[in-house]
Amino acid sequence: MTGIEELLLSRIRDVQDYPEPGVTFKDITPLLADPAAFTVLTDALAEISVRSGATKIVGLEARGFILGAPVAVRAGLGFIPVRKAGKLPGATLGQTYDLEYGSAEIEVHAEDLSADDRVMVVDDVLATGGTAEASLQLIRRAGARVAGVAVLMELGFLGGRARLEPALEGAPLEAL
Ligand code: AMP
Repeated sequence: MTGIEELLLSRIRDVQDYPEPGVTFKDITPLLADPAAFTVLTDALAEISVRSGATKIVGLEARGFILGAPVAVRAGLGFIPVRKAGKLPGATLGQTYDLEYGSAEIEVHAEDLSADDRVMVVDDVLATGGTAEASLQLIRRAGARVAGVAVLMELGFLGGRARLEPALEGAPLEAL
């Protein structure tokens, strides 16, 4: 394990049985409260984004906003929020996706993305990959290209990488 991985891991708190029994929640608030760790994380995600040739950062509600916004500033790129349905005031594109029980919908402002854009999706945790997969579909439907997906951590046992792979169409999924 690298020094960076050790530092980041040491600032992530496992909360058992939250938000429901059987789930181990990966709480990043200790990392956000540590300026050295938050800076290391921001720099690493910004480096991935710049290297990928991204022109925009998409952050996934809600912790993808906290991580994605400083990454966008550091990388010198625009930040686009992908929100849960009903929260954006302008004309939106929406994408529904399946959850374990039922479905969810995310939206983006249609005018925020164009054919000139290559988009890096940023979030804290890749779990089943459903949210990230839906965001890639939204980005493509908005006419933009996908630069990749960059997350702090990937819960490998949930198979998110395999689920995401077709939607990535060869773009990288990077988990720190
Ligand atoms: P998924 O669509 O299943 O990949 O879920 C990803 C979203 O749910 C991310 O935005 C995460 O913030 C959140 N999430 C899912 N599982 C966890 C977990 N065990 N700990 C923290 N956040 C999680």
